[in-house]
Amino acid sequence: MKEINGLKIDPMIFTFRFGCKCNGECCYYGVFTDLKEYENIIRIKDKIIPLLDDTQSKNPDHWFEPPEADSDFESGVAVGTALVNDKCAFLDKDGLCSLQKLANIENSHKWKHKPLYCILFPLTIYQNTLTVDHEHIERLNSCNRFNQNGTTIFEACREELIYLLGDKGFNELEKYKNDYFNEVNIGVTQNVAEK
Ligand code: SF4
Ligand code: SF4
Repeated sequence: MKEINGLKIDPMIFTFRFGCKCNGECCYYGVFTDLKEYENIIRIKDKIIPLLDDTQSKNPDHWFEPPEADSDFESGVAVGTALVNDKCAFLDKDGLCSLQKLANIENSHKWKHKPLYCILFPLTIYQNTLTVDHEHIERLNSCNRFNQNGTTIFEACREELIYLLGDKGFNELEKYKNDYFNEVNIGVTQNVAEK
């Protein structure tokens, strides 16, 4: 499997069709953060608390689950966000992420405080492989139910892929996509010729 920046690439991301149009149902289950992301969020808790509404908890002790070992996270430890009122502790009643709201208020990059797996979804990293998060997509009621224009997840998540891989890594990914489709087309042509 092709590797970019040490990450394996599942070619499924070039063909899986995805359309994003709902009120953030993907945030109803919370997310696993890396230990460092958790520590950063706790460090800025005093900036987050004033942004929380009456459906959220202003007590940081209610924001996270206990840490657990997980090799898909840079530090080797994952910390899940807790559910408050059946949604991620950071999801407000308008369907907005309070961590992204804070970044916007600060005029920082919109994803400065957001956990990587939130940024990536509907992509994910599983066993060091960048792939489609089928498991989460399939358990949601409204996710990817309105894919009218046939956009692939690769096209829909271009900004996220550049964020993850950098410009150089994304160019490498685009080249891999073209090579992959060329190989698939050659295989199809050979099969037709052999029949
Ligand atoms: S941290 Fe923000 S984006 Fe991530 S699941 Fe919670 S509300 Fe959604
Ligand atoms: S659940 Fe799916 S369609 Fe809805 S906001 Fe999240 S990614 Fe988009």
